[in-house]
Amino acid sequence: MLEVEDIHTYYGNISALRGISLTVEEGEIVTLIGGNGAGKSTTLRSITALTPARKGTVRFEGKDITKTQPSDIVSSGISMVPEGRRCFPRMTVRENLDLGAFLRKDKAGITSDIARIFDLFPRLKEREKQKAGTMSGGEQQMLAIGRAMMARPRLLLLDEPSMGLAPLFVDRIYDTIREINAAGTTILLVEQSATHALSVAGRGYVLETGSVALADDSEGLRTNPEVQKAYLGI
Ligand code: ATP
Repeated sequence: MLEVEDIHTYYGNISALRGISLTVEEGEIVTLIGGNGAGKSTTLRSITALTPARKGTVRFEGKDITKTQPSDIVSSGISMVPEGRRCFPRMTVRENLDLGAFLRKDKAGITSDIARIFDLFPRLKEREKQKAGTMSGGEQQMLAIGRAMMARPRLLLLDEPSMGLAPLFVDRIYDTIREINAAGTTILLVEQSATHALSVAGRGYVLETGSVALADDSEGLRTNPEVQKAYLGI
């Protein structure tokens, strides 16, 4: 479904990605793990062309999207939940969700998707008219995921969904990631804390200083002594 081939990405003169290659098959949950500054967020930003790769190719369902407009990437079926949620703070929960469907015109589909998001996250239904900026971190994470799902993506990119959340919220978010995947959405999941990511993902890539240091199935990564020491706190 997604093929990232040897991408090199820069911020001005700063080289952030030095030849990343990875694939995601339809139906999978794949994780990218790595420490601060390894290039995880930049990989997602290159896939969505927010910071396009200067060299290399990103293909989605066979089509080269390396230099496509980010809005066209959303309408082609990829949505991202950015690091730090980025909900619109002065807008209500409902308005944030409606914005997620900005590029859609199928009113009936949008209404049924709002109902589906409220089923996934009853807390959002309870807070429909609350301003997003007054919600807790965990609630805002739910909202950011709900907003991304409103574009009806076939591929969902999640950037550190567990960051800063209490353990109970993290469990809830991860249950939902499983549910979203089981309902047919493919997921590429970035995490610094590998424990949760490897519990849902089938396989993963370890990034170090802008390169792929290791790629394996989740069991292989969980039992790898280097991964245990660096990312699992064992
Ligand atoms: P973290 O887990 O800390 O969020 P990450 O793996 O997501 O890290 P990136 O945010 O992709 O890492 O950063 C990769 C490299 O690119 C880092 O060296 C970072 O300093 C640099 N970088 C990221 N954003 C910018 C920017 N806007 N301008 C300049 N350099 C940047």
